Amino acid sequence: MNPEKMLTPEQAQQIVLNHIRPLGVERVALLDALDRILATDVRARRDNPPCDNSAMDGYALRHQDIQTASAAQPAVLEMIEEIPAGRVGEQAVGPGQTSRIMTGAPVPPGADTVIPVEDTRAQGNRIEILEADEREANVRHRGEDIQAGSVVLPAGTFCGPGELGILAALQCSFLPVQRRPTLAILSTGDELVEIDEALEPGRIVNSNTYALAALALAHGAVPIMLPIARDSEADTRQAVENALQADFILSSGGVSVGEYDYIRKVLDDMGSEFKFWRVAMKPGKPLFFCLLQGKPYFGLPGNPVSSMMSFLQFVRPAIRKASAFPAADLLLPTARGAVENPLYNEGNRRNYLRARLRFAAGRLYASTHAGQGSHMLTSMLGANGIVVLEPEQKVEPGDEVNLQIIERVFR
Ligand code: AMP
Ligand code: MG
Repeated sequence: MNPEKMLTPEQAQQIVLNHIRPLGVERVALLDALDRILATDVRARRDNPPCDNSAMDGYALRHQDIQTASAAQPAVLEMIEEIPAGRVGEQAVGPGQTSRIMTGAPVPPGADTVIPVEDTRAQGNRIEILEADEREANVRHRGEDIQAGSVVLPAGTFCGPGELGILAALQCSFLPVQRRPTLAILSTGDELVEIDEALEPGRIVNSNTYALAALALAHGAVPIMLPIARDSEADTRQAVENALQADFILSSGGVSVGEYDYIRKVLDDMGSEFKFWRVAMKPGKPLFFCLLQGKPYFGLPGNPVSSMMSFLQFVRPAIRKASAFPAADLLLPTARGAVENPLYNEGNRRNYLRARLRFAAGRLYASTHAGQGSHMLTSMLGANGIVVLEPEQKVEPGDEVNLQIIERVFR
């Protein structure tokens, strides 16, 4: 393949992913495992629940004593003790006896059933049972949830809040997870000023570094925000060398026609392995990708929207592969849904249009933002999805299109 030829987005994604390897494992405190991939099987050291316990506030008793109980003809039992949660009953429940028991407390020996307090009537220690529930009613059995020795979470599990809860229950305060990449973010351009600098005529604020750092955080990487590199060979070279502290390098700007040769020269001089430049997509055409000392280097376009869209299509999957996410879960999730406004892709590159997705009556709808220019920062506002339009594709409201999902779709 001629590397200077414009690639399809799929070809470019494949080349990027072919050069990404999982970064390896580190041990972290439990909360830092959130949204990461577990690197070892986690086994239970004991049963959960650890013993048979009560699911209700009520009376622990022997089912054979209450088989025929009803409101008209209650079974009458003698209460022998009270067992609050966190305590173990001291007495076995014998025939004609019962123990008052709280939710979560261990069911005492002898008892096999708990009758909720609302189905009973107490007069001192004399307890009337007004309803015969089934045997073992309201008893949570030892090991019903987790059995000692079983693999509760296998290596490769994605750790969400539910997984963290179980890991806490299993007393895993530290655990091995897959590393997430650090990502150096470097904005280039003589026109840029930092966020708090005075804005002289002709200058623009460096917003990309913040947008890309936010994307990095949102998609599982650790951003390292570097100072602006000026449009000179010396400055760029120094900045890129500094960026080599990270696992991945992202630069924005300096890769469109005109500037391209010069950033390319710096990377060539540093011995980088060129992989591709330019992808047949809009926005995001002038994407540059190489390996620098074996590290993935993404030269993102300078236009704010283009750089964010390139991030989502190429950097996000790379972050996920480096963090050992499963192969089927690297690209953005896709769906079919109906457009709410007419759209036409007149060009010869695939369009990625920022959109607001919503559910209505069980159907997914996408409404694209009015201004889709790659300089229009506002086109990213509230965007939770992308409408993907092929060249020459024309759609009317209600027509189904391919969608990519960036954020959760509410409503
Ligand atoms: P470039 O790819 O360097 O030619 O930049 C394309 C456009 O994106 C120009 O209008 C730049 O001013 C703008 N741009 C480049 N870098 C940034 C940045 N870090 N923050 C905001 N806009 C930028
Ligand atoms: Mg520039």
